[in-house]
Amino acid sequence: MKLAAGNWKMNGLGSNLGEVQRLIAAIGDPKCQVLICPPATLIDRMSILALDTPLHVGGQDCHAKTSGAHTGDVSAAMLANAGASYVIVGHSERRADHGETDAIVLAKTQAVLAEGLIAIVCVGETEAQRDAGDTLAVVGAQLAGSLPNGCTADTVVVAYEPVWAIGTGRTPTLEQIAEVHAFMRAELAARFGGAPMTLLYGGSVKPSNAEEIFALPNVDGALVGGAALKAADFAPIVAALSATV
Ligand code: PEP
Repeated sequence: MKLAAGNWKMNGLGSNLGEVQRLIAAIGDPKCQVLICPPATLIDRMSILALDTPLHVGGQDCHAKTSGAHTGDVSAAMLANAGASYVIVGHSERRADHGETDAIVLAKTQAVLAEGLIAIVCVGETEAQRDAGDTLAVVGAQLAGSLPNGCTADTVVVAYEPVWAIGTGRTPTLEQIAEVHAFMRAELAARFGGAPMTLLYGGSVKPSNAEEIFALPNVDGALVGGAALKAADFAPIVAALSATV
């Protein structure tokens, strides 16, 4: 499965939902999956707009528990109830801003899977880790620690997002992306077997670089931040991925 996923982060009010209507009109009938993960406050309304269209709606995070005394948190069950079909877990901004460890990400992934939703599990090295030559070791440890046993291509998507490339306009070289994706493919095949999982690249993907990134082996789509906020930017990224199917 190929997937163009947009992460709106902490951006978006009801007045921004027009972008979603423009996006739905612009993507037509794509050959890939298309997903927007808005703030939790917009999932319900966006899901109504996306009814009977190719657009899927997802959450950006969830709590590991289904319900309880966790003020301010949202569970996977609540996201599903609001209309989400995917949930991002382990985004580097969650890992950095909220101290999320691999063990926490693993518990959240289990919570997503328990609700029958698809988890997009994010991994990626910092700039210091890349400079130290530790990229594959870091990504390998995150994969091992963040993914529960029993993950399949139907339930889990993995996003490689080098922390230093997120929101910076900087991207790794195509060779660097291909190296990490080949490594992830081999690690996941060795542990889980079965059909190959969808592997996304994330970090400053934009219309001008999407085509060359999507042409790389083992890259099945993208997780897109800034360029997912405007239909005029995200629709060409969807078209570039759809053209590879
Ligand atoms: C992201 O938030 O996952 C991301 C990749 O952001 P950007 O595309 O803005 O770098």
